[in-house]
Amino acid sequence: MARIPLLFALSAALTLSETTFAQTGFVPENKAALAARRWRGQHERAIVDEFLGLLSIPNIAGDRANIQRNAETIAKMMGQRGVPARLVTVPGSNPIVFGEIKAPGATRTLVFYAHYDGQPLDPKEWATPPFTPTLRNGALERDGQTVPLPPPGTPFNPEWRVYARGAADDKAPIIAMMTALDAIRAAGLRTQSNIKFAFEGEEEAGSANLEKILAANKDLFAGDLWLMCDGPVHQTRRQLIAFGARGATRVDITVYGPRGELHSGHYGNWAPNPALLLARLLASMKDDNGRVLVEHFYDDVEPLSDLEKRAIAEAPSIDEDLMKEFWLGSTDGGAAKLTELITLPSLNIRGMASSRIGAQASNVIPSTASATMDVRLVKGMDPRRTAERVIDHVRKQGFHVVDSEPSAAVRMAHPKVAMIPRPDGIAATRTPMDLPISQEVIRTVESARGPTVKIPNMGGGLPLTSIERPLGTRTIVIPMGNHDNNQHSYNENLRLQNLWDGIELMAALLTM
Ligand SMILES: [Zn+2]
Repeated sequence: MARIPLLFALSAALTLSETTFAQTGFVPENKAALAARRWRGQHERAIVDEFLGLLSIPNIAGDRANIQRNAETIAKMMGQRGVPARLVTVPGSNPIVFGEIKAPGATRTLVFYAHYDGQPLDPKEWATPPFTPTLRNGALERDGQTVPLPPPGTPFNPEWRVYARGAADDKAPIIAMMTALDAIRAAGLRTQSNIKFAFEGEEEAGSANLEKILAANKDLFAGDLWLMCDGPVHQTRRQLIAFGARGATRVDITVYGPRGELHSGHYGNWAPNPALLLARLLASMKDDNGRVLVEHFYDDVEPLSDLEKRAIAEAPSIDEDLMKEFWLGSTDGGAAKLTELITLPSLNIRGMASSRIGAQASNVIPSTASATMDVRLVKGMDPRRTAERVIDHVRKQGFHVVDSEPSAAVRMAHPKVAMIPRPDGIAATRTPMDLPISQEVIRTVESARGPTVKIPNMGGGLPLTSIERPLGTRTIVIPMGNHDNNQHSYNENLRLQNLWDGIELMAALLTM
């Protein structure tokens, strides 16, 4: 049932020639993907209706009542397809919607992951209400106008977009998987592996309970591979396969000057300035090219395999376009591409502060200066050990390091004092590209979607270790959203062609 309001564009009605369109040229050789394309062509309106229905249920992780409605709706969608579903929780968690299809004679299990919760939002920032899914005939940023649903039987223009929280991140994959199931069955095809679905309800709230739920239900969630359907495809619109994600740890540093702010005229040249101390300290951590100078920082980095290096070399470079988009006159890392640089750890200043600036500034020598840093980790690096190395670097610059607010005695006993609370963090994971199952995923995806962009790891984080650690399994990320989907921001949207592509992708992977 369509819950979308019929919002009519004020501009001229679309002509038939604008709503009929040429399909993208690529024809998949994968039988299931072809079956999915055929099925989708015959059922576009029903697919979109189911999508809009799911999107109309608010999905912020803290909204328990609506989270439950989402979970029950998804369980019902599975049930309608003969997939027995259940909601799995631990005390205080949102449910993971679990479903299972057993394939007779199957020798392995594939687990398909997506999440149904979305990022918190402010409805005032949205052009149309976030939980009133709205169709537009293009991207809002390029003047896309709201359009009504076409009459049943009329194809959708694949460049049209659905605007709603969760449209891209991450409800579309759930619809793609369910539709792919319909298509496979209608074509008389079967799943070859045992299939499990695990749809999380608090990913955007930090997946606080994911590891606990999996650890408490190991057999239920066990699988040879978790296919993580979350995030956008490559900016060139080519299908992306990411074999891991970076981890992260956080380092907060405060350095000290006088007990309170001092008059800069009376005490300038005499009292040390903590803002300058901090600036020097931070500057000592990196060279002009962005290379981290902390000793042993790169020691544990697991080198890339030849296959991983080749994948990076073959990935299309969009760096010049991105520089224009972000107004950058230069980049770090010398001649290295973005795709390569995200396979290395990074040390980043998230923000820094000391006293007040601009019109609020006063003539003072500040009392303290603080910086919050993040370290993005790659495979092989231990979060705590890495943070310790950064702390060692601070010591080598002559600081006495403490992990809580220093007393007057400590501050007077040392020329330079830095406070760094003991940090924790999340380790990175990377599934080797040369594993037989990795190669099979690549072949399967390419048979459905054509040439792919393969990266050893994404630059950002995903809760991969929370899955791999308790279950001893592997993870591979196969996203389907458009890159310009406004994920995590207002006016989140999904381009319909990405949903169509995602259905074909899922059909191929479900029959792998
Ligand atoms: Zn997501």
